[in-house]
Amino acid sequence: MHKLSKETKMSEPVCLHCGLCCHYIIDGKPSKIPCKFLVRLPSGKTLCRIYRNRLGKDIGHGNKCLMRKDTKRNYPGCPYNGRK
Ligand code: SF4
Ligand code: SF4
Repeated sequence: MHKLSKETKMSEPVCLHCGLCCHYIIDGKPSKIPCKFLVRLPSGKTLCRIYRNRLGKDIGHGNKCLMRKDTKRNYPGCPYNGRK
């Protein structure tokens, strides 16, 4: 059973853990390929396996992991949509 880290709870209190923002951006668009560090739980929610060390990491397909607010994208149902 995975537990959310204290850091996760404090920094992203409204994240729904849908994982949509953790799909690779390919040719400038979100793809259907999830990040290799994304874990999907039996509940359907997702967690990052390297959460504490994720930022700036090369994660594959020419992508680096960014803060959610720095992705400047909207995802269906995401509470962070439109935030600066
Ligand atoms: S798209 Fe939004 S709700 Fe879904 S995992 Fe990313 S930050 Fe959380
Ligand atoms: S490394 Fe970044 S993109 Fe990959 S699962 Fe973790 S938070 Fe999501």
